[in-house]
Amino acid sequence: MGKNILVLGGGYGGIAAAKKLAKQYKNNEDISITLVDKHPFHTLMTELHEVAGHRVEPDSVRVPYAKVFGVSKVKVVLDTITCVNFKENQASSATQTYKYDYLVLGAGAEPEFFGIPGIKENSFTLWSFDDAMKLRYHVDDVFEKAVAEQDPKKRRKMLTFVVAGGGFTGIEMAGELLEWRDVMCAKWLIAGSEVRIVVVEALPHILPMLEEDLRDKVAVYMKKHNAELMVNTPIVGAEPGVVKLKDGSVLETGTFIWTAGVTGCAFAECLDLAKGPFGRNTESAPGEPPKRNRKGRFLVTDEMRSVDYSNVFPVGDNLWFIENEKPLPQIVETAIQTGETAAHNIIADIEGHGPKKFKSNYHGFMISVGGKYGVSNAMGIKLSGIFAMAMKHIVNLHYLLSVAGFNQCWEYIKHEFLEMQHGRSFVRGFGAYKTRGYWLLPLRLWLGLMWVFEGINKIGEGWLSWGEGSKSTWMFSPGVLQKGADAVSAAASGADDLFGAADDLFGGAGDLFGSVDLGAGVDAVSAATDAGTEAVFNGVWNLASPIFDFNGVVSTWFRTTFMDGMAANLPFEFFQLMIVLVEIGIGLAMIGGLFTWWAAAVSIVMCIVFTLSGMFAWNQVWFVFAGFLLLGGAGRAFGLDCWVVPLFKKWWNGTRLARRNYWYLDGPSK
Ligand SMILES: Cc1cc2nc3c(=O)[nH]c(=O)nc-3n(C[C@H](O)[C@H](O)[C@H](O)COP(=O)(O)OP(=O)(O)OC[C@H]3O[C@@H](n4cnc5c(N)ncnc54)[C@H](O)[C@@H]3O)c2cc1C
Repeated sequence: MGKNILVLGGGYGGIAAAKKLAKQYKNNEDISITLVDKHPFHTLMTELHEVAGHRVEPDSVRVPYAKVFGVSKVKVVLDTITCVNFKENQASSATQTYKYDYLVLGAGAEPEFFGIPGIKENSFTLWSFDDAMKLRYHVDDVFEKAVAEQDPKKRRKMLTFVVAGGGFTGIEMAGELLEWRDVMCAKWLIAGSEVRIVVVEALPHILPMLEEDLRDKVAVYMKKHNAELMVNTPIVGAEPGVVKLKDGSVLETGTFIWTAGVTGCAFAECLDLAKGPFGRNTESAPGEPPKRNRKGRFLVTDEMRSVDYSNVFPVGDNLWFIENEKPLPQIVETAIQTGETAAHNIIADIEGHGPKKFKSNYHGFMISVGGKYGVSNAMGIKLSGIFAMAMKHIVNLHYLLSVAGFNQCWEYIKHEFLEMQHGRSFVRGFGAYKTRGYWLLPLRLWLGLMWVFEGINKIGEGWLSWGEGSKSTWMFSPGVLQKGADAVSAAASGADDLFGAADDLFGGAGDLFGSVDLGAGVDAVSAATDAGTEAVFNGVWNLASPIFDFNGVVSTWFRTTFMDGMAANLPFEFFQLMIVLVEIGIGLAMIGGLFTWWAAAVSIVMCIVFTLSGMFAWNQVWFVFAGFLLLGGAGRAFGLDCWVVPLFKKWWNGTRLARRNYWYLDGPSK
């Protein structure tokens, strides 16, 4: 009998569950899997501060569900669920009702304000993509307005940024602000000393989940960059532009960011399921100290089932479960691992085998303080500085690989390194500088012309005159290998010629200087220099001789293994025609700037094959390097690719092949 599985929320937990279920039921038409989310993309929550702090572009934290699920059987629906009737097994939005047999509930979390007066109304939060964008625009705006403000008191207030909470969200946000401050100050000619970035934490230290040595390192780094860390400082209230501290003092600020509490989301709160220890809807009474409540976090069994309904599986930030006397933390690893356990137990129910009990397997924490510094404790290995940052990137890439393949990893590398502005990565701007496409135009035309000449040259040599008995199984003509007449007959002596040519060249240079008769002393020096230079260069060429020498080890192996085999199986007419057409084709494509990436890639491959066959000259190797340069979109400037590539991408990204394997060029088009 058919089963409907509904996954509510495509966060870390929802995706982990949906992917596992889709893999299991890939070929089972009786099982349907629907994922409903209010956004069309999976939000990388752990990187939100990077968007809020203007380090990376907004798209870097959004992975479209169309990409994540490609051609898998998961049906993604864009909708906002407003209520779930657990007795009737159905979830509803304003317009739709979704029936289910099993429900995975992963609607995530929201900030918790603990009932402290004025906080909710007067603070920014960082718990969604929209929150991050709001902050990003606001900070840009504040600097622009502050520069025009002449009243020093008002200006000071505008340039004071208060982050409440010294947990990972607060510290990561403050770290971004420290870096962004420098960029904005340089842009608006504001002295760095005018800007205050204050972290306020109620506990005696920041980052309580970290060991003391690591949190000390973070504190030292932040203070060195002029952050103010106020610990043991509970916030007791807020008003517009004012944060009230327990000791009676206040902080005047234009930007108050609240990261000090997290709870299940408001939607989940209204669901009728048993919640964490403080029960349903616990709010502190007026005048009482705020209590932590567990709203939106549902009690689950060790199989990750709701204690009320065994077919409902809360995951990630939506569950409350005590393991080793502590509640599961609201972190990514909890979400992924509980999502996977939920999926496993749904499969167990459907297939009638034994369920699995949840057991966490945490690997540690990684915290960035801006793009250049971080600390981590992963699998017992403590790191700081660039090593910790490298670890954080590796972990992120590992996650993205599992979610949307190499394509998303490449997007990540682009956002974090290759397109990084203002040097805000631990390798600074290394790799981020971009060449303008139009500078490549002369090279593109020249390389194209060389290939066209080479193809025409082969026709002139009789490559297509089969009736007259022309037969060449090699790819070389004097056009490319300018030394040596006939490739096959000259091949054996090709290497000698090549190195002889080098000798001639350097000998010739020596002669040139020698012929300038500046006296016997100069001649002697020149002769000695000639000999020395020749010896050095010969030494260098000799290193490469296994490749460039026709009879070298590499080229002999390559020729006898691949080329001879190919020649034995292909009619020589076909082979010769193919080579001539490919060469002229590459040339014309480059000249027209049409499918330049492919033309450059084929050019590189041809040159590598030539080289490995021992039939390329060292001074032709520039073909390969020029090919690499042209891979970077050289045809998009003054070339037909300007119009053709977008159309091609649109078609390709919609194909089943691209969608199944995440082989997208940019993003999906379906
Ligand atoms: C700034 C920041 C930094 C963080 N850094 C770290 C870190 O370094 N390491 C770490 O482990 N954890 C970190 N976390 C915590 C981590 O992001 C969460 O624990 C994790 O996202 C929880 O995953 P989830 O699947 O439960 O929910 P989420 O990832 O929040 O996903 C919930 C999904 O449900 C959807 N949804 C919600 N309500 C509805 C509805 N009514 N209808 C339809 N769809 C709905 C949302 O659109 C969303 O896609 C950080 C969090 C933040 C905000």
